[in-house]
Parts: sequence; C-alpha cells; structure tokens
Amino acid sequence: IIDKLVNLPPGQPFYSFEYFPPKTEEGLANLYDRLKRMSYLNPLFASFTWGAGGSTIERTSEMCAISQSGFGLETCMHLTCTNVNRDIIKEALNDAKDNGIQNILALRGDPPRGQEYWSSCDSGFNYALDLVKFIRREYGDYFCIGVAGYPEGHPDSDDKQQDLRFLKEKVDAGADFIITQMFFDVDIFVKWEKECRKIGITVPIIPGIMPIQGYNSFRRIINLCKVYVPSSILNALEPIKHDDQAVKDYGVQLAITMISTLRQNYSVCGFHLCTLNLEKSVRLILEELGLVPTEEQRIQAFNNRRRSSLFL
Ligand code: FAD
Repeated sequence: IIDKLVNLPPGQPFYSFEYFPPKTEEGLANLYDRLKRMSYLNPLFASFTWGAGGSTIERTSEMCAISQSGFGLETCMHLTCTNVNRDIIKEALNDAKDNGIQNILALRGDPPRGQEYWSSCDSGFNYALDLVKFIRREYGDYFCIGVAGYPEGHPDSDDKQQDLRFLKEKVDAGADFIITQMFFDVDIFVKWEKECRKIGITVPIIPGIMPIQGYNSFRRIINLCKVYVPSSILNALEPIKHDDQAVKDYGVQLAITMISTLRQNYSVCGFHLCTLNLEKSVRLILEELGLVPTEEQRIQAFNNRRRSSLFL
C-alpha cells in the first residue's frame, strides 16, 4: 500500500474499501460476488476486519487470501493483538505472508464481549504499538503496516495531545500509514490532521468515511465507536428514520458532501470507505464524485490484476 500511495501522481484521488467477515456461508458467498464486482471500481486496496481476540481468524484469513490472489486486490488484513494468544498472532501473520498479503492494519482491539473496559492481558501485547514492534522485529520490512488514528481522540483517552503522541510512537516504531476512525464533522478531522503534522507525523493519513446505510445500524455504530455526530445530521435523520431508502440516500449525499469538502477545500485525495459489506451506496458515491473508472481504466486494471494473480 505504501508503495502505491507514494507513487500516486500528486492530487490523484484514490479510495479503499473495508469489509467485515460475514457470519454465514451464504453471506460469504454473496460477499465474494460483491467483492468481484467492486474490484472493478479499482480501490487502491481492500481491508478486512478482524474479530477481537482472534474470533474471526479463519474467515478473515480466507477472505484476505481470496481477495489478494483471487480478485487481485491489494489486500490489508486487520489484526488485533490483545486478549489473544501470541501464537495465534504469529499464525495469522505467517498465513498472511504465505498468501501473498503484504499489508497489516495493526490494532490493539476492543474489550472482549461482555466487558465494558479494556484491560491489559499477559500475552505481552498491551497496545497496538507492541504489535507494530513485533511485526517489524519478526518480519522486517516484509509487511507494510497501517495503524488507526482518532480525530476525536481515542475514547479511552482523556488527553488528546497524549493520544497524538501515542500515535506518533506507532509511526516511529514502523507504521507506514494511518487510517482514521470514521468521523462526521470534517472540521474535526482537518484540525486533527494539522496537529498530527505539527508533531512530526509525516506518513499518509487516510480518513475513514462510513456512508450511513440504516438508522439503527448507524446509531449502534456511533455509540460503539463513541463518535460525535453534529446536530444538523441528527436533525436531518430524525424525520426520515423509519424510511430505509431515504436514510440510505441521505447517507450517500452526506458522504459525497464530506468527501467533496475534503478534496476541494483541504486537498485531501484519498478515502477509506467502510462499506459495511454493501455495494450500492459506495458505487453511487463514487459515480456522483466522478471517480468510477472509465472502460479503458477498467480494462487496464483488469489486466494488471490478471498479471498479478491467479484470478478467479
Ligand atoms: P492503541 O493505539 O493501542 O491505543 C489504544 C489506547 O491506548 C488509546 O487510548 C491510546 O491513547 C492508549 N495508548 C496507546 N499507546 C499507549 C502507551 N504506550 N501507553 C499508554 N497508553 C497508550 N477493532 C477490531 O477488533 N477489529 C478490527 O478489525 C478493527 N479495525 C479498525 C479499523 C480502524 C480504521 C479503526 C480506527 C479501529 C478499528 N478497530 C478494530 C477498533 C480498535 O481495535 C479499537 O478502537 C481499540 O480500542 C484501539 O485500537 P488501537 O489500535 O487504536 O489502539
């Protein structure tokens, strides 16, 4: 990913897609169909989440392998390091390497189900920083490493400046890029990004954008991630909250507005779209932004992917 990022022409827009492992075989089969179609949208990379404590190890590993070698997507595997045995982390990294995956999003992880707060465990990994160090120590430069950043500060932290210093520690330990937590207030991201640069974080920072796909899921996710939502958004959603299509349409328009503002006013070129495994909103957003590849670009990307993969 970092090679792709640094080789992009200045100002070139890009986007990446995030997926999570479905619970059922049927869901997985559907997602593979969607992944294949969405690969033609030419994301810079696709990332796959990891269930805290290693709960999705097999499915996440399989999805990453198929995305990389089957669909020829540059693939990034999320990996959390707490509440999990060290051997599982090693196994996941070895599998990723064997499957040709070269990108890891190194994370701490959230508290296990049923526990409200995270507490340190005895595997030696307490923070994402420990995982970044471990990967660099054990695998040298084989993996490109991403880490998470929090424009509103991490929810466990009362001190935003300290949180930023911890982020810088992850970068100094070897992280190549940052993906942010989703946000709904562009100004918060812009201010935070400036602060990152001011304290000497120079790696690419990719803002996380989650198109709102449904009212209840949106409320659940923002509560889980403790993300601030401006009252203008809550007020716009309130009268349409029982109309799924209206909420989806609003989510598309909101994402377009946020991305356009970031691109036009702040020259932010790239975006990490949390797809929630859904295709339509992402496709509409890219279409309306004029970012969907042309036929010629699609063919070129198809050929590049075919050259670099087994291709399903
Ligand atoms: P860290 O960087 O370790 O930070 C966690 C907290 O510890 C912060 O409050 C920080 O200020 C503090 N801290 C950091 N370093 C130190 C230190 N040296 N000493 C003291 N305090 C320190 N979760 C999943 O389970 N699976 C996923 O796939 C997943 N994907 C994600 C993708 C993105 C883009 C983001 C933003 C989050 C994702 N998460 C995922 C959630 C993530 O695991 C949680 O937010 C978790 O609470 C923190 O992870 P982190 O890697 O940011 O932690």
